[in-house]
Amino acid sequence: MGAPRIEDVWEAIDAAFTRVHDRHPDALMCRSGCADCCGKVAFLTVAAFEAQIIRRYLAQIDDAERARLVTLASRKEETGCVMLDDDARCSIYPARPLVCRAFGLPYRVLPDLAWPDGKRRLPVVDGVLEAEEQVVDTCFKNFMTVRPNELPAEMVIHQLGLTSLSKSLDAAEPSDVSRERTMLSAVIREALGIETDDAREERSLRDE
Ligand code: SF4
Ligand code: SF4
Repeated sequence: MGAPRIEDVWEAIDAAFTRVHDRHPDALMCRSGCADCCGKVAFLTVAAFEAQIIRRYLAQIDDAERARLVTLASRKEETGCVMLDDDARCSIYPARPLVCRAFGLPYRVLPDLAWPDGKRRLPVVDGVLEAEEQVVDTCFKNFMTVRPNELPAEMVIHQLGLTSLSKSLDAAEPSDVSRERTMLSAVIREALGIETDDAREERSLRDE
């Protein structure tokens, strides 16, 4: 079976949000300007196919937007994603990664992947799960009145499903594209031509 069409994947995730919202209209707090999730993912990595989508997106933005994103991406990402702007909005929204699109949905994950402080964690794309050890979790803001573990299966995304989807989409990339996951900030800085401190240091050592 070939790789799914990326548009179909995005539509399927949107449809999952609609399904959950129709059944539990008050359960999802996800909306524009809510960005606690983005503010916690300083070191988000992306798959090869996601990096390509982001590069293509950044190649077609105008000069003013490019200058704005250069300023954003030049910050250190100590606490949150470099693409989160001062209005708590995603600056690459049309090209945001798979995991960002699924933020907020209930998802099935291993219990020992929960944060050590016991708070519920955000979805991630990689990881190996054993069926008997899975739990359903979601953003700490969502499903405050309905227990995620009691939701029917059709309302829950599966971490393994996202992993396998990501791998199929990666497999469809040209063979010369690396399949390694890359830091989102590195993809963005490279595409915007921003030289990092590390790269500057490496260049000065080379030039000596
Ligand atoms: S996942 Fe949580 S923090 Fe992120 S937009 Fe949804 S409710 Fe807000
Ligand atoms: S890419 Fe966008 S949606 Fe994803 S974490 Fe960064 S700001 Fe949030």
